[in-house]
Amino acid sequence: MAGESIKPVENTASIPSSLPEEDIHCPHCETPMSAKTAFCPACGWSMTPVPPLERAVAAAGYLPLLPAAVVLLLPTYRRHLFVRFHAWQSIFLWIVFLALTGGALFLSNIAAAMALLVFGILATLAMLFLWFVLSLKAWQGERFGVPLLGDLAARMK
Ligand SMILES: [Zn+2]
Repeated sequence: MAGESIKPVENTASIPSSLPEEDIHCPHCETPMSAKTAFCPACGWSMTPVPPLERAVAAAGYLPLLPAAVVLLLPTYRRHLFVRFHAWQSIFLWIVFLALTGGALFLSNIAAAMALLVFGILATLAMLFLWFVLSLKAWQGERFGVPLLGDLAARMK
């Protein structure tokens, strides 16, 4: 909304803190607040740089599902919104990934099963047709061979 969301540092120091000056926005919920605010008044997001341990835990939370779930359940990280944000995002991302790939694999299995089923039906129909034709030829006294198999049978004694 405000055309200028970030003021130069020298201006911030000169403005009395009582003024409702909105200098920065929460990266979590977009709530505007003073640049000196340590925690977002709306959601509690820490406005100070994230410590390395929290960053490491948040990064580890992107391993498939389990680490993120553990992070969310651990009392230690109950108030670590940065870590929890990434843990939740990881969980949602993995759910979407697993649903899509699982669905694709399931459909591919169905497609493969359908193809095999169609092949089986066609092969059965072909076999019934050959059975009928070859029986008829034999009955009529005709030496009628099918390709490949007829040649093979001719060589046998
Ligand atoms: Zn916030």
